[in-house]
Parts: sequence; C-alpha cells; structure tokens
Amino acid sequence: MTATILNGRALAKTLREELRADVQTFIVDSGVAPTLAVVQVAGDAASDRYVRSIQKACGDIGITFAHRLLPADTAQSMLEASVRELSADSAISGILLQLPLPVGLESAGVIAQLDPRKDVDGIHPISAGRLAQGLPCLVPNTPAGGMELLRRNRIALAGKRALVVGRSNIVGKPMALLLLQENATVTIAHSRTPDLAGTVRAAEIVIAAVGRAGLITGAMLRPGAIVVDFGINVLDDGTIVGDVDFASAAEVAGAITPVPGGTGPVTNVMLLRNVLRAASDFKVQSYEV
Ligand code: NAP
Repeated sequence: MTATILNGRALAKTLREELRADVQTFIVDSGVAPTLAVVQVAGDAASDRYVRSIQKACGDIGITFAHRLLPADTAQSMLEASVRELSADSAISGILLQLPLPVGLESAGVIAQLDPRKDVDGIHPISAGRLAQGLPCLVPNTPAGGMELLRRNRIALAGKRALVVGRSNIVGKPMALLLLQENATVTIAHSRTPDLAGTVRAAEIVIAAVGRAGLITGAMLRPGAIVVDFGINVLDDGTIVGDVDFASAAEVAGAITPVPGGTGPVTNVMLLRNVLRAASDFKVQSYEV
C-alpha cells in the first residue's frame, strides 16, 4: 500500500478534546451550557441508536441534551409546532431533526420551521443559500468533517482539480461549495455523468458521496490522488465499506480515508461543534434571518 491513511478516529479524538475545552470556556463566559434539542418521531431502531450516541457524545463534551421524542402517529402539524416551539425557545442553541421522517410526514414543511441560526445539520434552505454565497452559516456536518480531514492533514486545495461524485443537498453539493471556497477547481459528477472513469482519472482530489460499494476503483484513479470516501454501504455479510474499493485505491492514491474510521467519526464531532457555534452566534446575533 502506498497511500497515506487519513485517520478519522484519531482526528475526531483531537477535535473532541479541543471542543470540550471550548465548551468549558463558553460555559464560564456565558453562565449557561450550549443545548442541543433532538426532535425524533418514534419507531426506528437505527434512529434510536444514533440519538443515544449523540446523547452520550453531548455528555462527554459538556453540551446539554434535550430529547423531544414524539409518538409514531404524530401529525405533520404537531411535528411542525414542536420544531417551531424549540426555534423560539432561548434555552435551546441547536436543533437536530432526525431524518428521514416516517412515511406520511413531509420534511420540507418541518425544516421550514427551523430557525436557521439553530440549524446544526445545515439543512434549512437559508443555510444552503448562505453557504452558496460564502456567508457565515452552519455547514452540514459530513462535508464539514471532510474538509477538516483535508485541512488537518495539510492537503493543499487551491488550484487543484477536485471531483465530487454525488450531488445531494446534505453531502455532495455542500462539499463542492466548500472546496470551491478553498479555490479548488470543482467538478460534480452524478448518476447521469457518462464517463465516470475518465472524470475520476482527471481529478487530483476525489470525493465519493454516492452510497454504492466499490463504485470507484484504483484503476480509475490518477496516481497520487487524494481520496475522501463518505460512502457507508453495508454488505450482505454485515461488513461496512465505502464507495471506493479501498484495497485497489490505496495502491494508487496519495492519501485516502478508510471506511469505517475515516469521515464517519469526524462527522459526529462537527455536529457538536455546530451546537457550540450556534450558541455563540445566537448570543451575538452574528446574522439576521
Ligand atoms: P443520496 O442522497 O442518495 O445521493 C447519492 C448521489 O450519488 C446522487 O447525487 C446520485 O446522483 C449519485 N449517484 C448515484 N449513482 C451514481 C453513479 N453510478 N455514478 C455517479 N453518481 C451516482 O446520498 P447521500 O445522502 O448524499 O449519501 C451518500 C453516501 O454518503 C451514502 O453512502 C451515505 O450513507 C453516506 N453518508 C455518510 C456520512 C458520513 O458521515 N460519512 C453522512 C451522511 C451520508 P443523482 O443525483 O443523479 O441521482
């Protein structure tokens, strides 16, 4: 193997230590702890596990955790009212809406009730618009984590040909915008891109955000390419792999994130960092909405 491993677990540990200290400073300065409210409609075991892991991480960092668990038969209007109430509550710094919602509930109407200054997942259209215009905003956690991995590993981005494979609002698009902010020359590929292999081959930085195991192989990569793999795919035997075929890619890439242990652990810390940021920004009203 020739590639440097971009170790997300080690970086997440460092980031957690930094964040714990920053949260303590915030508490001493302001007299209150940042508070994350998680809004969840009951009925999904995976969502329960995720929420428990966030609760534990909040406790570890010093962030107060408030769980708003609504019954499985919650009506759209109830869910919207709950988010609206939390948006108006000055004791709440950030709000995380657990998605996807159960069938019958529609997310856009609920997201519209979020105060964008508390939108710690970066899912509100105002957050997305502000990111597109390079204005201060809460950035979606997964791409924010990818950028942190690149930054902390001192990977130069300015002038580099960067390819983002995937164009979702929560991963691909914001990642492309963040790379553009760092002066990369950015291409976005998606399911209608005709020559993915040729497009990947031209890129010095390859970001995978698709959800297809092994879509990108070592044979497609330019030697020395930097590879960030956001993909999380569960194989039939339960193994978790990324969108990039790690074994072949690691023989060609200059640096690569493993799956698991790459982007995933950093994403969770970015969420908590956004809670502190929301608490600080809301206090100083750094932007009006
Ligand atoms: P998504 O909303 O399903 O979007 C997938 C994107 O991939 C779409 O833009 C789609 O193109 C594109 N695509 C599908 N097949 C393709 C192909 N053959 N060639 C090129 N592009 C193709 O998924 P997402 O929410 O962005 O998530 C992407 C992956 O990241 C998933 O594996 C997810 O589990 C993972 N994820 C990881 C983290 C983390 O912390 N590491 C966090 C969130 C998500 P079209 O737009 O044309 O359909």
